[in-house]
Amino acid sequence: MKRKTKNTLRAIAKHFGLKIVFVSYFPADVQGLLLSREKRILINAHQPRCEHIFTLLHEVGHYIRHVLNPHRTHHPRIFEDRWKSNFMAEVSKHVRRYFRFIFNKTSGKEWEADLWAMCTFICLAKTTGCRSEFNAFLKRHPEKQNVFLLAACGTIYSGIKTRIKNICRCLWLPFGATLG
Ligand SMILES: [Zn+2]
Repeated sequence: MKRKTKNTLRAIAKHFGLKIVFVSYFPADVQGLLLSREKRILINAHQPRCEHIFTLLHEVGHYIRHVLNPHRTHHPRIFEDRWKSNFMAEVSKHVRRYFRFIFNKTSGKEWEADLWAMCTFICLAKTTGCRSEFNAFLKRHPEKQNVFLLAACGTIYSGIKTRIKNICRCLWLPFGATLG
């Protein structure tokens, strides 16, 4: 693993006050574990590097999404509005309940942590040069292809958004406009 990747991963964990511990007593099907109270991430030492990276990011994802923000809402804001129509108020109530149900389930939480990990792994591959580890991980996990596609779309979209924002900034700033 490149030093830049290692340092970035360490910095991410440190930022949240999390300690990374490699352990050798996990069975082969357990990649890692987050001990949120002790602020520790245990990682199965017997796995390849690409797994170490993803596992670390996945557990950090759990920490951010489910420990730091346990009561976050997941539904689009439109369903929070107080609708005048009884029908829409009822629909919104059901949608809110549905989102709560999906994201409170373990599978929903795992999916969220996976998505966070995948987005961050894509960024790491681009910026710290761990592309070979990223490709190796995708090869080992064809079942994560959907998460990868979603994360890739998100990354491309945010890249486009940043680029458009930069262009706008260049165009507007000479005229004294302020951007939020
Ligand atoms: Zn998990």
